[in-house]
Parts: sequence; structure tokens; C-alpha cells
Amino acid sequence: MAKIELVLGDITTLKVDAIVNAANNSLLGGGGVDGAIHRAAGTELLDYCRSLKGCETGQAKITPGFNLPCRYVIHTVGPVWHGGDKGEPELLKSCYVKSLELANQYQLDTLAFPAISCGVYGYPAEQATKICIRTIHDKLNQSPMSLQTVLLVSFDARMHQHYQQTLTEFTTA
Ligand code: ADP
Repeated sequence: MAKIELVLGDITTLKVDAIVNAANNSLLGGGGVDGAIHRAAGTELLDYCRSLKGCETGQAKITPGFNLPCRYVIHTVGPVWHGGDKGEPELLKSCYVKSLELANQYQLDTLAFPAISCGVYGYPAEQATKICIRTIHDKLNQSPMSLQTVLLVSFDARMHQHYQQTLTEFTTA
């Protein structure tokens, strides 16, 4: 059975099949994890992303990893938090579903997610981690998936603690 693991660190350093980028609609780079991924991948990633003509919120697109240690980057666009009644939960769930489906299409074994929407986009971490873990768990169990390991990567201890708490609640429920 595929497993979910928690990692505290920089997602750009991981030697996995693919890392997920919390991108914006333009796919042309930005701050936070998006900026870090583009810096580490090199300008070829930006050139490639230009050809993709953007991405809608809740959707995902795949590119090579270029100078990154991972083979692919899956770019998904999380929702901006506007209080929770503007479709944010469904859109955040869709980011995880579409990214997992792309990973499966490419027959990937290991995938690493950052905390989509939990930075500049302002999604409350407690609610986001619940959606993240529930969605990944259901998807991995629902259909035959190539994925064996899904890493949930936090850049700071606070986010990591939210994941730990949610995962504990989830597995003991
Ligand atoms: P969003 O715009 O979707 O909120 P951000 O990049 O602002 O995206 O933040 C998403 C999450 O990624 C935050 O929890 C942030 O701390 C984290 N993050 C930022 N840089 C990195 C990195 N290099 N590796 C892993 N996570 C990161």
C-alpha cells in the first residue's frame, strides 16, 4: 500500500520522481516555493512554462525538472483564501486530485507536495492539511495508482506540526 510521509525541509532538494509547485495562474514564477523551484530549475523551466499558456485554479500541468534533482515538476494553482465560502475547499482538493492523476499518468513512484495555498494565498493550515491528507488517502485507496510514496513537505516547524497533528488524528480516527 502506498504511504504518506511528512518531511521538514526544502522541496527543491528532493530526489523524487516529481515535486509539486504551488504556482500561480500565469505559471511564470513568483514568490515562495514557486520562486525557489524556478531558481533551482533554471531558466529553461520558465521558457517551457511560457509554452503552457497558464493554468486555471484547481488544475495541474507537468514539466521536466531541468536542473532540479527530480524528474518532473507538477504545477498546480491553489485557491486564494477568501474566507472559505468561495469554493476554496473544492479547489484545493482538486489541486491534489489533478496532481495525483498526472503522477499516475506518468507512472511515477514518488511525489512530493508543498503545503499548497498555505503561504501567500492564506489558506488556514489546519483546514488545508485535513483536505490534503483526506484527499491523498482516498485517491491512493480508490484506484490503482503507480505511486508508492507521497511526501508532504513543510518548510517550517509550524506547518510540519499541523501535518503531524492531522495525520495522527486521521490514522487514529
Ligand atoms: P501559495 O501561494 O500557494 O500560498 P507559497 O509558496 O506562498 O504558496 O507557500 C506554500 C507553502 O510552501 C508555505 O507553507 C511555504 O512555507 C512553503 N514553502 C516555501 N518555500 C518552500 C520550499 N523551498 N520547500 C517547501 N516548502 C516551501
